[in-house]
Amino acid sequence: MSDLDPRRAIVDVTVLSGDGYTQELAAGDIFRIVDLEGNQAVDTLFFNSRDLDERYSATETIRRQGNIYLTTGTALVSSEGRPLLTIVDDTCGRHDTLGGACSAESNQVRYALGKKYMHSCRDSFLLALARYGHGMGKRDLPQNINFFMNVPVTSAGELTFADGVSGPGRFVEMRAEMDVLALISNCPQLNNPCNAYDPTPVRLLVWRR
Ligand SMILES: [Zn+2]
Repeated sequence: MSDLDPRRAIVDVTVLSGDGYTQELAAGDIFRIVDLEGNQAVDTLFFNSRDLDERYSATETIRRQGNIYLTTGTALVSSEGRPLLTIVDDTCGRHDTLGGACSAESNQVRYALGKKYMHSCRDSFLLALARYGHGMGKRDLPQNINFFMNVPVTSAGELTFADGVSGPGRFVEMRAEMDVLALISNCPQLNNPCNAYDPTPVRLLVWRR
């Protein structure tokens, strides 16, 4: 298991549920996301920070590894077929590629009409992109990763949102293979059993060597 020392990290921040966040990574940086209290969903996208049109592709990533779940060894592949980052350690064991981000629209369809105005990951992504600048917006939100989220596919091919498989202190660690922009929404969702209806903070760390 990774023995990197948090005291030597160049970035060590806590992101509350409902908050969006952007982090630029240099090629070679190690980026760790810690599920502090367990069963949190961390909606995440990655971009080539030198060419923001090149971004994480769920399709390319799934096709490359022949598996819909992400874990140690997974290359997070871009829309240009190049690895953006590689997962180098994972104490959770499974991360979702299919569930997508919650939104005002999905809040209404999945839960109730009155849930439209609750916080959502899509809104957090858009707010974080607006703060980041560079003119990024809705068109820059492809299918995202849900770190720590458990979305098993049944034998009938159906998606299910199941109880989380993560736990307090579990983490996923990635090595940037190019200069990367990470875009994160720490999911605020209060209507989904995957976080036990209780969204919680996560910790982000970056080591540079
Ligand atoms: Zn969400």
